[in-house]
Amino acid sequence: MEEEQVAAGPGPCCPHCFSPVEETAHFCPRCGRPLTSFAATDPIQSIRTEGQLYRGAAHTTRPLVLIGMWLLSIPTLGMGFVVLLDPRGEVGAAIATSICVFALYGAILYRVTANYLRARKKLSGPG
Ligand SMILES: [Zn+2]
Repeated sequence: MEEEQVAAGPGPCCPHCFSPVEETAHFCPRCGRPLTSFAATDPIQSIRTEGQLYRGAAHTTRPLVLIGMWLLSIPTLGMGFVVLLDPRGEVGAAIATSICVFALYGAILYRVTANYLRARKKLSGPG
């Protein structure tokens, strides 16, 4: 007897949380992580993808990720100084831009570093 009905195999699933996702989905509906390269090419979606990277890095226990976050942030912080010290630019706009850059990247670096140190302390255990 020939089996006509082939059981439908499992559809695509998220490589991070293994929950089923639709074939056309660019982001996992459960964990929100990017699933396709479109997630990085679309300007709006790339912001979401970048946010996902920062959220993931905020809970890292790997020193390489921490170093990478600092290396990624240093050029942006440098740009904040350049904008602030540029004599040609408008002073108000320069100060506002610099405050935004320092607040955002300062908060990201503080949180990533503090979480990393806390996680390392927890891993090494009491004593
Ligand atoms: Zn997922």
